[in-house]
Order: sequence, then structure tokens, then C-alpha cells
Amino acid sequence: MGGKRNKLSWSDPRRIKAFLYENIKILRTGHKCWQYQGVISGCGYGSVWIDGRSEGAHRVSWRVFMGRIPEGRLVLHKCDNPACIFPSHLYLGDQTDNMRDCRERGNHFGKLSDEDVKAIKLRLLDGEEYNYVAQIFDVSRQTISAIAHGRAHGMVAPEIKIPPRGGGPLLSEKEVKEIRKLFGQVSLTAIADMYGVSRRCIYDIREGNTWGSI
Ligand SMILES: [Zn+2]
Repeated sequence: MGGKRNKLSWSDPRRIKAFLYENIKILRTGHKCWQYQGVISGCGYGSVWIDGRSEGAHRVSWRVFMGRIPEGRLVLHKCDNPACIFPSHLYLGDQTDNMRDCRERGNHFGKLSDEDVKAIKLRLLDGEEYNYVAQIFDVSRQTISAIAHGRAHGMVAPEIKIPPRGGGPLLSEKEVKEIRKLFGQVSLTAIADMYGVSRRCIYDIREGNTWGSI
């Protein structure tokens, strides 16, 4: 950021878009959220200064990428990450949806500290049963399942990747293609860190032991 304040105006949405692009970090893990890197409010929402007013960054993102926000509608997060401004993680809802979101967080997600969530992820990584972990932490099985699949608490300890039950792949095809481009430029260990998988997993891709068909 330069010394001179970037003055943004609704009269120039292209500049707002450019500003948003410059101020996000695309998270490599979890839902691949667009994490807003500018000012973050106390509630965790990003804020953008436009036409002399502070606006919620997720609302600004909706307006410039998706369109108008109808009167009385709220821009809500599917990804449970208030600092995310990825348009496809956002949806329009009303106060009822908002309260339901809050209630779900309050009942299940809100109860768990970041330490708890990390401990849960480690247990799931060890292959412990959802029901068993749910009992230990006194939450529903659905909450454990949501954590396992990254639908909840994706921001806590994202480096712990829990293999899907049923033995599905840890990485998507797109990620494998990205990884292939990194060979020779970055060490296997660094790639493994980036994608939250083991070095062995990356080695196997390079050697063609896995994902040979892509
Ligand atoms: Zn998101």
C-alpha cells in the first residue's frame, strides 16, 4: 500500500474489483477461501472504504462480482469464514438464515475452542470414529462430520488434512496438475507443506506411482 490512500468509488466498480483482487490471499487448504487482507473488523469481517463509508468487504464483493443486494437481504457465508470474499462462497439470505447460521455456530461450532478443533482433527486423522469423538467433545456427530469435511472450522489447523472415509483421494485433479508444475522449482517437502499432505504423497505423484492418468 502506498502512502496515498486509494480512494474507491461505486462509480468505478472495475477499480473496486481490482482493489479486491490485490487484497486477497487465496487459501490453499480447506475451501480455498479468498481471505481478505485489508482491514478486518472486530467480528472478523473485512471492511473496505468506499465513497467515504466503511463497507463490509463480503458485501462489496457480492456487489461487484454478482450484482445488486436486494433491499433487506443479507450477504451470508457458506464457508463460515467471515473474512472470505470469494463470491461463490457467499449467498443472499434473510435474517432467518442469518439467525440459523448463528444458532448452528452457537450450538455446535461455538462451543469448541480452536484447541478442541485441532484435537478433534488429530483424532480423526488417527482414524477414530466420528461417534466416539463426538461423545468425547460433547457435540453432535454432524459437527464432527462437518469438521472432517472442512465445512466447519476450516480455518483451524488447516494443515491437518483428514482423508475422506472410504479412501477417496486427498488431492483434487486440479491440485495434482498444479503440483506437477512445481516439480523442479520447489522442494518436495515445501510442496507437501503447501498442500497439507505427506512428502511421500508428493513423491508418489512425481514418480508416477499415483495419479498416473492425469
Ligand atoms: Zn470462503
